[in-house]
Amino acid sequence: MKRKTRESALICVFTVGFVTNLFLGFVKLYVGQSSNSLSVFSDAIHNFFDAVSFAIVIFCFFIMSKNAGGEAPFGYGRIEYMAGFISAVMILAAGVLFLYSAIERLLYPFLLLFSWLNFGIIAFGALIKVFLGLFFFGRNKKLDSIVLKGSGIDSFMDAGITLMTLVGYLTAGYIAPRADAFVGMIISIIIIVEGIKLIKNNAKALLGKNLDEKTKRSILKIAEKHGILADEGAITLHDYGKNRKIVIFDALIDSKDMSGLQEFKDAAESFTREASEKFDMEFKVCILPK
Ligand SMILES: [Zn+2]
Repeated sequence: MKRKTRESALICVFTVGFVTNLFLGFVKLYVGQSSNSLSVFSDAIHNFFDAVSFAIVIFCFFIMSKNAGGEAPFGYGRIEYMAGFISAVMILAAGVLFLYSAIERLLYPFLLLFSWLNFGIIAFGALIKVFLGLFFFGRNKKLDSIVLKGSGIDSFMDAGITLMTLVGYLTAGYIAPRADAFVGMIISIIIIVEGIKLIKNNAKALLGKNLDEKTKRSILKIAEKHGILADEGAITLHDYGKNRKIVIFDALIDSKDMSGLQEFKDAAESFTREASEKFDMEFKVCILPK
C-alpha cells in the first residue's frame, strides 16, 4: 500500500475512534452525574482520555504524511512509534486517576441513584466499544500499525471495563454503596497493568529493536541459497517506520580471492531482490573480508 494512502486511511480510522469516544464520554458524564456513580463517571473520564490520545495520534499521522527530506532524511515514519507511546502513557494516566478516585470513593461513600434507563445506556456504550475494537482489528489487517493494534486491545478492554462498571452500578444499587468503589479499583488496576505493558512494547519499538531470530534465520537461508555467506550477527535492522525498514547484511568474502567480485555483486543483487520481496524491507549488502 502506498505510504500516503496508508496514512490517510489511518487518519480516517482514528477520527472514527475520536468521535465515538467523545460521544461516549459525554453520554457517560451525563449518566454518571445524574446517578452519582463513580465507576460510570470514571469510565466517562477514560473515554475522554482515549479521545485525546486519538487526537494526538491523528496529529502524528498528519505529520508523518509529510515527505522525507531535509531535516528528516529517512522520513517521519518513526512518529508512529511515538504516537503509540503517547497513547500508552495516556492509558496509564487514566488508570492512575481512576484508582485515585476509587480509593476516595471507598473512604467517602456517596448515595447512588439507580435507574434502568441509565443501565441500558451504559450497556449500549459497551456494545459500541466492541464494534470499535472489531473495526480497529479489521483495519489493522490491511494497515498493520502498532498504534491500531494497541487501540483495538484498548477498545475491547474498555468494553470489559464498562461491563464491570455495570456490575458495580447494579450491585451498588441493591447491595452496598461501596461495591461501586471496589469495582472501580479492580478496573483501574487492570488499566494500569495494560498501560505498563503497552508502554513497554512501544518503548521497544521507539528505541529500535533488531529482527527476531526466526526472521534472521530465514534471511540467512535465502543468502545461502544465493551463495552468500554470513553469520547470524551479520544482520542489523535500521527501522525508520512501517515502510522504511533497512536491513544491513554483512557478507563474508575471501579477501585472497577478489577476482569473483562481479560474481558476488550479481549474487548479492538476486539475494536482496528475493529478500526485499519476501520481507517488505530494503536490503543492503556490505562486504566483510575474511
Ligand atoms: Zn480506553
